[in-house]
Amino acid sequence: MANNFIEAIVENDLENNVHEEILTRFPPEPNGYLHIGHAKSLCINFGIKEKYHGKCNLRYDDTNPTKEDVEYVESIKEDIRWLGFEWDKECYASDYFEETYQLALKLIKQGDAYVCDLSAEEIKATRGSLTEPGTESPYRNRSVEENLKLFTEMREGKYPDGSKVLRAKIDMSSSNLNMRDPVIYRILRATHHHTGDAWLIYPMYDFAHPIEDALEGITHSICTLEFEDHRPLYDWVTEHCGFVNPPHQYEFARLNIKNTIMSKRYLKKLVDTGVVEGWDDPRMPTISGMRMRGYPAEAIREFCSVVGVAKANSEVDPAVLEHCVRDVLNDSADRVMAVEDPLLIVIENAGERETITLVNNPNHPENGTHEIPFEKEIYIERSDFAVVPPPKYHRLVPGGMVRLKGAYILRYLSHEEDENGKVLFVRCELIPDSKEGGVNAGIKVKGVVQWVPKSCAVSATLNKYESLLLDEVDGNKQFDDRINPESLKTVEGALVEPWVMDKNVGDRFQFMRSAYYKLAKKQDGKLLFYRIVGLKDSFNKQ
Ligand code: ATP
Ligand code: MG
Repeated sequence: MANNFIEAIVENDLENNVHEEILTRFPPEPNGYLHIGHAKSLCINFGIKEKYHGKCNLRYDDTNPTKEDVEYVESIKEDIRWLGFEWDKECYASDYFEETYQLALKLIKQGDAYVCDLSAEEIKATRGSLTEPGTESPYRNRSVEENLKLFTEMREGKYPDGSKVLRAKIDMSSSNLNMRDPVIYRILRATHHHTGDAWLIYPMYDFAHPIEDALEGITHSICTLEFEDHRPLYDWVTEHCGFVNPPHQYEFARLNIKNTIMSKRYLKKLVDTGVVEGWDDPRMPTISGMRMRGYPAEAIREFCSVVGVAKANSEVDPAVLEHCVRDVLNDSADRVMAVEDPLLIVIENAGERETITLVNNPNHPENGTHEIPFEKEIYIERSDFAVVPPPKYHRLVPGGMVRLKGAYILRYLSHEEDENGKVLFVRCELIPDSKEGGVNAGIKVKGVVQWVPKSCAVSATLNKYESLLLDEVDGNKQFDDRINPESLKTVEGALVEPWVMDKNVGDRFQFMRSAYYKLAKKQDGKLLFYRIVGLKDSFNKQ
């Protein structure tokens, strides 16, 4: 069953034997790291490959040498693999530069392209508008011989950058502006990350892309809605270049997420200006940032499936992505006890140190258990004790009782405060035989709190993240004005169960009653955690 309109087209084509095998491609420009928007395109293209037993190429759309870099080429591969996709062929638009050039010559010989000496500004000025037709270039009717000679000389380096372009000869009064003799080649002296200095002229996207698709035998060329108006040009190129069984372009609505930057250009600016630490900063909406933060790949794929593939642009609430992350982590993350702001509890009648067993994940008993020492002095969360409790407070209060997670029921005895009224410690006693299964286990208490043993709790730093962008105010969409100065908050002095010391960097945990965290670093007996996502949805599930 087709999940969206593109899959429906694919199924229809397969039923009617239009293609024997489906071949899609993912065509990133290596001018930045992939972001969550790209994940959607990846899921569509690789999803079709997987579902219909086809193929999908990874093609670097590297026709713009000034902005591209091998660092990006490598990161793109890493991110695609991490998301769980494997491409069939690794291709480079630049590998087709010679073929693309030959096809340009073919167009010239057919009278379908000409060398134009107008400047970029002049071309723009003579293009017309939606209501006015364009004006034909004075160079439009150059002879085939002259065009061949000039274009060859452009390649040979006879002319300076920007002094001449090759234009497709289509229709200056077309109602579609893209068809008004678009530029298909330009002169550009720039070292290319893949072809070095071999070329002085580079094809434009609108010319190169359909050729790349056709040369690779792509059946369904899937792109975002902005290219809908370019489709007639896409078809013009494949037709005039003489491809039989040409590929077809299909457009879908790009993914937009509220308060989330989805432009490589701007993300690069955040990196270059030091607003974030790098492309993989845990606050970045990049695939590498999300991986660094601790988002599971599975959650990103699930998110893409939940938001679906549509023909109309819309904006998704970031809470939807968080919901998907939470769903996966709820199922997979081990539970541990941690306190952010420790409050010492002295248990007067505690016996010998003993070992308590905790279930790693109550949803999956098969994931086993781990142990934690229970002793006379422990820490609980400072907010789990209140001298003057607010209404509906279900934790420890003077005169009250509370259960320690996995251990005994505790009864308040007394507490000490400093001169500012800050509680220094609380004295308590435990109810004997009140552990689960004990004769006193049934005593009613107000709540359950987590704790860590004083002698061996591990000290930890917690990095907590907020959105990089603040909400729009008065419709101001400018990113620069909306950078959140408090997108990273660091909490020092937290304490976690000693068991976590045996775990690996990259492992994810649920800090009970708090949030999901990733273990980011272990150094000198100290731990660094990244907060992945909170425990509760901030939106209503429809
Ligand atoms: P950016 O503006 O961030 O540079 P782009 O579209 O220029 O994005 P490309 O590297 O050209 O980036 O994109 C590779 C593929 O990913 C293209 O097929 C493009 O349509 C798709 N893509 C990019 N952004 C999104 C998005 N927000 N939602 C869905 N698909 C996207
Ligand atoms: Mg692009």
